[in-house]
Amino acid sequence: MSVQKGNVFLFSGPSGSGKDTILKQVFARLPELKFSISSTTRARRDPSDDEKYTFLTKEEFEAGIAQNGFLEYAQYCDNYYGTPAAPIENWRNLGYDVVIECEVQGALQIMEKLPDLTSIFIVPPSVEVLRKRLTGRQTESAEQTEKRIQTALGEMKLAERYQYLVINDHLEDAVDLVCSIITTQRAKMTQNTKFLHEVLQNA
Ligand code: 5GP
Repeated sequence: MSVQKGNVFLFSGPSGSGKDTILKQVFARLPELKFSISSTTRARRDPSDDEKYTFLTKEEFEAGIAQNGFLEYAQYCDNYYGTPAAPIENWRNLGYDVVIECEVQGALQIMEKLPDLTSIFIVPPSVEVLRKRLTGRQTESAEQTEKRIQTALGEMKLAERYQYLVINDHLEDAVDLVCSIITTQRAKMTQNTKFLHEVLQNA
């Protein structure tokens, strides 16, 4: 059977929105999804960061930019973050759905380049909760935390550019909602034409 090109699911949400926790559970439920490993120049905060990032020097990252190696890239809290282009295209051509996690500036670039993607913005239930979650992290200085809070508020102002909003108040509900967005997108007729034509041809 010929393969229908995979979907792209683009997730954004400020630090402290619980985006990573939601995505971890979504991957546990839908393990066939592929995660786009980003490149970044930020320092490793935790050994598990290696599941999400390839860590590059500034020079290595800038060489990637010069070679058009990124689908998008942005500077966030004084570091580069970028989405390598090649793996996404390869996976999609093999029929896999790909999850990209990205801050807002990069996300807007991807929306321009891939207008058929599905975009999802995750928010905490309130600014108080956001502040509490970010202050609870022991891995960053107070100054870095304050900078993340201000960046988060700036990002939330652009949430209207996304197709879906997921409020992460109760984790389980948020995970259910994200999984139903993904499965609904998969059921769209545009994603199933090849299957349908082949069934009819072989009838
Ligand atoms: P953190 O340093 O907390 O892991 O991530 C900081 C921000 O960078 C988050 O909003 C995260 O979504 C975003 N981010 C992660 N990967 C990428 C990427 O490839 N490109 C862009 N533009 N942002 C990214």
